Amino acid sequence: MPDIGGLWTAFVNNPIVQLGVRFSALYIVALYLAMVFWTVRDAQQRTENAIMPYLAGLLVVVLNVLGLFIYLIVRPGDTLAEAYERQLAEESLLAEAEQRVVCPTCRERVQEDYVLCPTCRTKLKRVCPSCGKLVRPEWNICPYCAKDFDERDWTVHPGGKAAAAGSRDARDATEQLPT
Ligand SMILES: [Zn+2]
Ligand SMILES: [Zn+2]
Repeated sequence: MPDIGGLWTAFVNNPIVQLGVRFSALYIVALYLAMVFWTVRDAQQRTENAIMPYLAGLLVVVLNVLGLFIYLIVRPGDTLAEAYERQLAEESLLAEAEQRVVCPTCRERVQEDYVLCPTCRTKLKRVCPSCGKLVRPEWNICPYCAKDFDERDWTVHPGGKAAAAGSRDARDATEQLPT
């Protein structure tokens, strides 16, 4: 019958076994601290709250791996950087949608330089009788040449028509140049 107690004492007192036990303990402590550290830092990337990350860390300190699992389940899905990126993308989409010009009457898409809507013939822009540029019908002064408009300018505007026709002719001329 071998002396089990003696064997155990010899085993425990073996320097290699003792080294192994110490190393394992150190390894577990390091893993534990790394887990807590990772949780706090991960939480800091997901919330702007100053206290919440430390509460999450405390959860891991107290409950260990179980606490880490709980944290992984309840943590916010997006990091702050990801949330910011998504917000930027949404805002740029919104800005793009706003830039699309539509006819106020029929909501058809129109170009910025259309004088009227080709679908429902709503007047969208008017030609400034002084400089020939397109201005909005509700403006009563030209933002390009500072001409003050009065009703007469809108009822008869030969200058505007001529200027518009002139610019169209000029465009046609440039288009015909290469041929
Ligand atoms: Zn329209
Ligand atoms: Zn003008």
